[in-house]
Amino acid sequence: MSDVKRVYNFNPGPGVLPLEVLQEAQAELLDFKGTGMSVMEISHRSKEFESVIQTAEADLRELLGIPSNYKVMFLQGGATLQFTMLPMNLRPAGASADYIVTGSWSKIALKEAKKLGAARAAATTEADGFNGFPASLDLDPKAAYLQFTSNETIHGVEYFSEPTPPAGVPLVCDMSSDFISHPIDVSKYALIYAGAQKNAGPSGTTVVIIRDDMLERVPENLPVMLDYKTLAASGSLHNTPPSFAIYMVGLVFKWAKKQGGLAAIEKINRTKADLVYQAIDESGGFYRGHAKPEARSLMNIPFRLPSEELEDTFAKEAKKADLIGLKGHRSVGGMRASIYNAMTVEGTQALVKFMKEFQKKNG
Ligand SMILES: *Cc1c(COP(=O)(O)O)cnc(C)c1O
Repeated sequence: MSDVKRVYNFNPGPGVLPLEVLQEAQAELLDFKGTGMSVMEISHRSKEFESVIQTAEADLRELLGIPSNYKVMFLQGGATLQFTMLPMNLRPAGASADYIVTGSWSKIALKEAKKLGAARAAATTEADGFNGFPASLDLDPKAAYLQFTSNETIHGVEYFSEPTPPAGVPLVCDMSSDFISHPIDVSKYALIYAGAQKNAGPSGTTVVIIRDDMLERVPENLPVMLDYKTLAASGSLHNTPPSFAIYMVGLVFKWAKKQGGLAAIEKINRTKADLVYQAIDESGGFYRGHAKPEARSLMNIPFRLPSEELEDTFAKEAKKADLIGLKGHRSVGGMRASIYNAMTVEGTQALVKFMKEFQKKNG
């Protein structure tokens, strides 16, 4: 491996994966567990694959402390399909669902929910450019559920404690970009979904964690691939699952356990984020963070420079220094450093060193 060149990958998604995970996948690629085939070539009904999916689920249950009255599913269609499946399955006919809109992803989720029935914004911070938490929530006590997005990947706004829904209203979370980045209390949630490719693996599978009582809401006669009840009952094996993606998230879960679990991972994530935010705060206004301090994400850090010209130069020179994927989303502009679990402290230090040198040259 020593002759393989790896860069520091700050891509927002698909994002960086742990080197050990890639090496393990590489080592097993041609002969998976003595089958003489890759994991992509074996039957999803084989005992070898059964072990892959069951181990992935067991490791995730251990990492997150998922109670036994929850099902874990590995689905397809990305987090975006969950924008549709969630209201289809959990919003009874005639009922309305509440959404807290703190960035692009929750805004899209609400828009999709409105296509199939009633949904409303319990709050939106769009007028402030999605730079923090809403000052207050206008919650519907009869809502079918309350959905929020724990980490807005584009705007870099992250919740570290859950909003409290009215009594009896199930809490739902799009956790795509901070999934397994810190411990959570799963028992507060009725449903959690997360596209794997931000922090938990490659694209191709979406983890859905659903409390058993929610399955009773699923209407009859939904198209089978959109029906949580069927998919949960089959253990994500109603049809051919995205087997390679599930294998990869399984390796990432095992890696996360080896790091000491989510509390240990959060500590490292805080160290990394502190390094970058400190560089921003100590730049005397040369670098300007997008999110307000109390809402600052540990995963995605969007920031601006004094001019668009300097931002272009920053991206180009960073790339030359093997710091990849730092260009921000067009809706926020500027730069964005995505420092997911697999980004090392060393990589983050390299970014901060580059930021300081760039400021010295151009400030
Ligand atoms: C990327 C992202 C999505 C969309 O994910 P896909 O898997 O591409 O559909 C949804 N929500 C959040 C928070 C995201 O970061």
